[in-house]
Amino acid sequence: AKESGRGTRLFYTGDMAGQPAETLQQEHLLREAMAQQALRLHYQPQVHAASGRLAGFEALVRWQHPLRGLIGPDEFIPLAESRGLITPISRWVLREACRQLKAWHDEGLPRVPVAVNLSAIEFRQRDVVREIAQVLTETGLPPEYLEIEITETTLMQQAEHTHTTLQELQALGVAVTVDDFGTGYSSLAYLKRYPLDKIKVDRSFVIDTPGDADDVAIVTAIIELARSLQLQSVAEGVETPEQLALLRRLGCELAQGYGIAPPMDAQRTRAWLQALAPA
Ligand code: C2E
Ligand code: CA
Ligand code: CA
Ligand code: CA
Repeated sequence: AKESGRGTRLFYTGDMAGQPAETLQQEHLLREAMAQQALRLHYQPQVHAASGRLAGFEALVRWQHPLRGLIGPDEFIPLAESRGLITPISRWVLREACRQLKAWHDEGLPRVPVAVNLSAIEFRQRDVVREIAQVLTETGLPPEYLEIEITETTLMQQAEHTHTTLQELQALGVAVTVDDFGTGYSSLAYLKRYPLDKIKVDRSFVIDTPGDADDVAIVTAIIELARSLQLQSVAEGVETPEQLALLRRLGCELAQGYGIAPPMDAQRTRAWLQALAPA
């Protein structure tokens, strides 16, 4: 069973024996959603903290549910993982993100990379890098425009496979970000052992800055750590100008959050990109 984050759950993802009928029905709906192309990608801008210039997007999956409207990933990814549906969903996400970015590049819109979240189950697949390489070839997106986000917890498992996979991604030219940094059990040794590109400060540390001195200390330490290991730092969950100002002062390189721009559907993202493009 996966830990539930915030808010109420749409699905019961704990002991499946508890509510078999409902779970089966939701599983059925999720399979149908894939068949009916009811999954959507939203894109959230990441900007250079110092200049505000666009640095890239994070792709975030949603489900256009027939009855409940747009449903966030925290409410169906755990179900997908437990019911063996994460692989087709992840492959769709990867392909769609690459396809979309390539289409925007071809339209002459500003060329920036897209970051895709990979769940532990996907990252552990033996052929994960081959799959990624194949999607890049098929969509024509150059590898330097794809980034992979993997949580710290995922990186801490299966050291040998993780090491090989990260080396292959590096060889392919795809950047890797450690997501939710600071929330897992980490030895920190992995940061120098593995080829990584960015550290993403978890939003739980950002949310109470600049008021909370402890959180300011943690965020400062993570940014310093990233700098000394020559990794880029990204802060997520940036909601206020004060938070952005703090991050800038601390030398955090990239920022993402509602205070900068929310995740937007493809149409709005395109309009957003177009507004940036020189006339
Ligand atoms: P994450 O990777 O930490 O993604 C960031 C989440 O923070 C997103 O939630 C985003 O909408 C939200 N967020 C962005 N700015 C702010 C802000 O200023 N304040 C707050 N409070 N939240 C903000 P979302 O889209 O609901 O995604 C939740 C999680 O679901 C993601 O967390 C990620 O772990 C997972 N996820 C999303 N898309 C995918 C996917 O395609 N595949 C997999 N395996 N997981 C995904
Ligand atoms: Ca992420
Ligand atoms: Ca995160
Ligand atoms: Ca998260």
